[in-house]
Amino acid sequence: MLKNEYLLLTPGPLSTTSRVREAMQLDLCTWDDDYLELVQSIREALVTLATKDTASYTAVLMQGSGTFGVESVIGSVMPKESGKLLIATNGAYGDRIAEIADVLGIETVVCRAEQQKPIDVNAVEQLLKTDRDITHTIVVHCETTTGILNPVKEVCALAKTYEKTTIVDAMSSFGGIEIDVAEWKIDFLISSANKCIQGVPGFSFIIANKENLQACKGQARSLSLDLYDQWKTMEERQGKWRYTSPTHTVRAFKQALLELEEEGGVQARFARYTQNQKTLVHGMTQNGFTPYIDEAHQSPMITSFIYPNESFDFNEFYNRLKTEGFVIYPGKVSEKETFRIGNIGDVYPHDIERLVEAVKQYING
Ligand SMILES: *Cc1c(COP(=O)(O)O)cnc(C)c1O
Repeated sequence: MLKNEYLLLTPGPLSTTSRVREAMQLDLCTWDDDYLELVQSIREALVTLATKDTASYTAVLMQGSGTFGVESVIGSVMPKESGKLLIATNGAYGDRIAEIADVLGIETVVCRAEQQKPIDVNAVEQLLKTDRDITHTIVVHCETTTGILNPVKEVCALAKTYEKTTIVDAMSSFGGIEIDVAEWKIDFLISSANKCIQGVPGFSFIIANKENLQACKGQARSLSLDLYDQWKTMEERQGKWRYTSPTHTVRAFKQALLELEEEGGVQARFARYTQNQKTLVHGMTQNGFTPYIDEAHQSPMITSFIYPNESFDFNEFYNRLKTEGFVIYPGKVSEKETFRIGNIGDVYPHDIERLVEAVKQYING
């Protein structure tokens, strides 16, 4: 068996367990019952993870990385005429949503917050109040750009009082933070295989309110990313994807779901990520680094740190940590020099302690 040479402390793809990687050592046929049953069991498990109101929601799997899932939702959910999307953004992933909508020719209004601040619910309300053309809202839960957590529950509850359809990019939070899509009033939630569920890359998935999804027939601006058609085929043909699906990735994902359950579910995973994150910040602070995001809004998934001084050389730091067995992530913040360290994946507090020690060695020359 191949052994990983380093731990990925990145927001995905991330370090997976050997059992998840081993699950890929089997070739499956996309229309055989064995595979279809596997797909159906995954769809059911995802709905169960997402809500107690399982009757009102369904899960659709979509080929491609998370962005393909986001594009599929935006392109399929927005009505062809007279739809307007309110995009609340405070980072690169929110901005990417605006880019997707632009490419698709969808009318938008952007509610922008500073990258260091959570989405401002009052600013969202102002727009909902004054712009009657808005039909849908979208917000990113954990903005992976910085690691900030946005008040998704509040934004969606508010949007519902104005009778809007709600979409949430929960790419880097679903499976790592407890969310109930029905309670949080989310109509469409998007996530992907290689984040907190701890699978390997290859597909995204959408948890959709059935009634809202049924209204999307014939609306898609893309053939391959048609969310409604993908769902219809999966329902009618009991687990069949429309085009070639990533069979090995799907098998690995099933194993990852079993391991999430073994760990004790989302609550237990959240506790581990939280412990990772606290261990990280404690150690990094002792080494002279400052987190970019205020503790009150910091997610347990990924932490941005500000460069400690002018002479800090990220590439040198990165390479040194890599030789010690850790791969970290460059920053994505526009107004400040930062880098990021992720806590998600098959990563434990003792790994973080080893990382902090390696950082200490580096700092002390
Ligand atoms: C990872 C991620 C995505 C999707 O990115 P891909 O590179 O397409 O997988 C979208 N939104 C957020 C918040 C993410 O963390």
